[in-house]
Amino acid sequence: MKKRMSFSFEVFPPKAEQSMEPLLDTLEHLYAYKPDFISCTYGAGGTNVGRNMEICKAIKESGKTIPVTHYTCIGNKKEKIREELETYLKMGVNHILALRGDFPKGWQETRGDFDHANELVEYIRTNFPEFCIAVAGNPEKHIQAGSLKEDIAHLRLKQDAGGDYIMTQLCYDVKNYQHWVEQIRKAGVTLPIDAGIMPVLSKDPTIRMTVSNGCSIPKELAEIIGKYGDSPEDFKKAGKEYTVKLIYDYINMGIDGLHIYTLNKWQDVADIIKNAGIRSIKE
Ligand code: FAD
Repeated sequence: MKKRMSFSFEVFPPKAEQSMEPLLDTLEHLYAYKPDFISCTYGAGGTNVGRNMEICKAIKESGKTIPVTHYTCIGNKKEKIREELETYLKMGVNHILALRGDFPKGWQETRGDFDHANELVEYIRTNFPEFCIAVAGNPEKHIQAGSLKEDIAHLRLKQDAGGDYIMTQLCYDVKNYQHWVEQIRKAGVTLPIDAGIMPVLSKDPTIRMTVSNGCSIPKELAEIIGKYGDSPEDFKKAGKEYTVKLIYDYINMGIDGLHIYTLNKWQDVADIIKNAGIRSIKE
């Protein structure tokens, strides 16, 4: 990121009872875009951790790119964290996104040894210095935070604990994103920022993900939802065009990295990349 804008993808592991084959096929298609890394999500409450490890291992063994594992504090005691981090390192996975994690239904706390991501970052930095550590950033404020200022102070704690770069939550409002960047820089957060782009592909998930994270739905996106909400094909077409424009807006603003949440849908992502001309941007 210090030399040029990085370009990367996020995938999620299949459910325990589902085959790995479709995701392995998806990864093969994603490698074609020469991503700098591919990150893999970690199920809330440590569910699917085996699957997460399998995916990270497959990415590592492909030799095509760097796997970045997501990792959370939810339900995790230090002993388990130590064992799992050792397992990742043995597999050659030394890039991690250190998160608190979302609480499973009915939980009010992590029920682990760490309450917040900054404590996990500190633990990893102290005990496993070989990890490159990403931390989460919320351009429109984390939904549980009292204020943007307070949330930024907590982001600063993650930098001070040893985070290497920030991966951001979805944010469709580029002006809000720009404001957040200005504010975090004023607060002394100097880490590079990897901007997370959530493609707009279908109505319900788009609404669910923005609302559950307390993020804005700008007018242009609201119009797409209103106009094409009952026609999945038209929605997807307009949503992809919207996503391409969003990527341009981000790149024009000057970001350190572009991280596409693929939702494991490589064909749609391929269309977006082609239309945004990202390969040539990267080169
Ligand atoms: P924190 O940094 O701990 O922040 C959580 C809340 O606590 C914020 O409101 C913050 O302001 C406040 N806070 C932080 N530190 C302190 C402190 N020291 N004292 C008091 N308050 C504090 N979730 C998953 O379960 N699995 C995933 O794979 C996953 N991937 C993600 C990928 C990205 C790029 C992002 C942005 C999020 C991802 N999440 C994932 C969701 C994430 O776990 C949630 O947003 C979660 O609610 C907060 O995680 P965090 O690491 O930002 O927590």
